[in-house]
Amino acid sequence: MASPKMGNCPRCKKLYLKIRDICEECYQKQETEFQAVSGYLREHKGSTLQEVSEATEVSIAQIRQFILSGRIMLVQFPNLTYPCEICGTEIRKGRTCSSCTETAKQLADNLNKTVDEKKSYLRVMSERI
Ligand SMILES: [Zn+2]
Ligand SMILES: [Zn+2]
Repeated sequence: MASPKMGNCPRCKKLYLKIRDICEECYQKQETEFQAVSGYLREHKGSTLQEVSEATEVSIAQIRQFILSGRIMLVQFPNLTYPCEICGTEIRKGRTCSSCTETAKQLADNLNKTVDEKKSYLRVMSERI
């Protein structure tokens, strides 16, 4: 059996024993936040993300993560949308809107090309020296 390793918590950067994605303290905090958000949504099904965040004092990024991890089902909340990671367009599925997903893919392709070009340029330069 593999024993859990030490690592830095992605939320608070503290060193912790990696038995879950985040440290115990952050996990507890996240659970409290989840209870607040889901409790609020139960009473206010027509809320927007902004309203939920303001009422519960849970960050939009955190609520968004609850949605992305499937803990909050958007299908029950008609007005709940969250911003695309890149352009901020309101979406209800995935991390980025469809046009950004497409653009990001193209950018990644171009970036790979640029890196290759740089590498060959550097190789040529170092051969000259
Ligand atoms: Zn933590
Ligand atoms: Zn977008």
